[in-house]
Amino acid sequence: MMQFPLTLDHLVARAEKVFPGVEVVSRRADRSLHRTTYGAVCARARKLAEALARWGLRPGDRVATLMWNHAAHLELYLGAPLAAGVVHTLNLRLHPDDLAYIATHASDRVLVVDEVLLPLWEKFRDRTRIERAVVVPSSGGGEYEGLLSTAEGRWTPPVLSEGDAAGMCYTSGTTGQPKGVVYTHRSNALHALGVALVDSLALSHRDTLLPVVPMFHANAWGLPHAATMMGCKLVFPGPHLDAVSLLDLMQAESVTCAAGVPTVWMAILDALQREPGRWKLAPGLRMVVGGSAAPESMIRAFDKHGLTVVHAWGMTEMSPVGSVSQLGPDAPRLSEDEAYAQRARQGRPTPWVDIRAVSESGEVPWDGRTPGELHVRGPWVASGYYQNDEARERWTEDGWFRTGDVVTLDATGSIKVCDRLKDLIKSGGEGISSVDLENRLMAHPAVKEAAVVSVPHPKWSERPLAAVVLREGARVGPAELRDFLAPHFAAFWLPDAFVYVDAIPRTSAGKFLKSALRERFADWTWG
Ligand code: AMP
Repeated sequence: MMQFPLTLDHLVARAEKVFPGVEVVSRRADRSLHRTTYGAVCARARKLAEALARWGLRPGDRVATLMWNHAAHLELYLGAPLAAGVVHTLNLRLHPDDLAYIATHASDRVLVVDEVLLPLWEKFRDRTRIERAVVVPSSGGGEYEGLLSTAEGRWTPPVLSEGDAAGMCYTSGTTGQPKGVVYTHRSNALHALGVALVDSLALSHRDTLLPVVPMFHANAWGLPHAATMMGCKLVFPGPHLDAVSLLDLMQAESVTCAAGVPTVWMAILDALQREPGRWKLAPGLRMVVGGSAAPESMIRAFDKHGLTVVHAWGMTEMSPVGSVSQLGPDAPRLSEDEAYAQRARQGRPTPWVDIRAVSESGEVPWDGRTPGELHVRGPWVASGYYQNDEARERWTEDGWFRTGDVVTLDATGSIKVCDRLKDLIKSGGEGISSVDLENRLMAHPAVKEAAVVSVPHPKWSERPLAAVVLREGARVGPAELRDFLAPHFAAFWLPDAFVYVDAIPRTSAGKFLKSALRERFADWTWG
């Protein structure tokens, strides 16, 4: 067989030839809709590559982005790698101190920044060595167009190798400095294939895809690459991520697949329940949920609106998708409850992702009961962090990446995430899954959100405390919440305290920030 490199220039060339007319639609900051096509985006990505090279970008140099999801960001995703550069997406939700550290650690040379994000850039620009910042105006035109116009069309693109770096993203861990993950052309290409498979997200040329998940977080789950590979019409939300804006966009563009973290979908569910019938969404719309566990109650609730939740699990270090929960051939024999329970799992690993779960006594059986830390390996799993040896212990000596997630695996390898290793509650030596408790609590009609954390306890060493956000106008006491959980859990799992809070603190990626809750309740006095 031919030695044919898995490089992203192939994706661009194919899109130009096979589906140049497929649309890429973006909501701009000023709320207007910008419509373009893959043909135009790819031509502009080529111009961008040439312009960057003429400016002095060398192979392997980092091109940072500080941008929302829109067509210009896709041009960066494709254009920087065409110049043998590395697109480094900066997470605009991070603190400016972190952004200064990350941009410096990655040696970013150029930055392309949305005009609406200039105030953020101003807060850390003096602390970076970025040589040039190019602004993408909210309404088109401007500096970014100026950069593209320096391309003359007489340029020989560099020959790319599949092992070349193509992208970069820093993980926003809650401890230590952020750590960089470098993606290659090959890993991006294979990951895009893995994501598009029918038993993964089933992306096709007939799909209209709305990535709500930000392009500055973990490659937007590989969706920009996968969409460019498959020819999905793309719809980008820009900075407008509130439920009504998203629902309006999904309706107007007949979106068939949308992807985002549970927080986004909870808000959407709220809006659908508040105004049933207001939106006419495409029948069979798939909503990919990942980044945190999709509560079973949410999957059930969306089904009532004719919308199908597809639950996926992944990590920045895994490009990020590792598993997707799709029903198997036994689906027709499952009871309704069994089917929901399966869909709420994190699912079977995608092809090319090897998994095992390991406890103190070694690899655990795939029995659906025994917990262990999930280890992964595969062609789109990082083999180390960028210029950071401190976290080397995340990789085992026999070549696996320790995910830090405690899971059980069923006989078919379907993953169930019980907890982050550091969030697991150890009461009297026994593990309690905070995720299971949270998911059940969030099934209570009065509960909008719930996070369960471990709090030091004199007798049991740790006990669970539930922080609960109630729906507007709803009331429910701790005793009722305990009774609501009781039939589903061993008695010692039930939280000893329920605390009502206005909001659950979140990470930059919209996940519950449990470390903040643990700190807040560290001195809790048990009654
Ligand atoms: P990040 O690298 O920031 O995307 O975070 C990765 C972590 O998010 C994983 O190790 C999991 O703990 C968590 N995570 C991602 N997807 C899921 C999911 N579907 N269910 C539960 N946890 C998830």
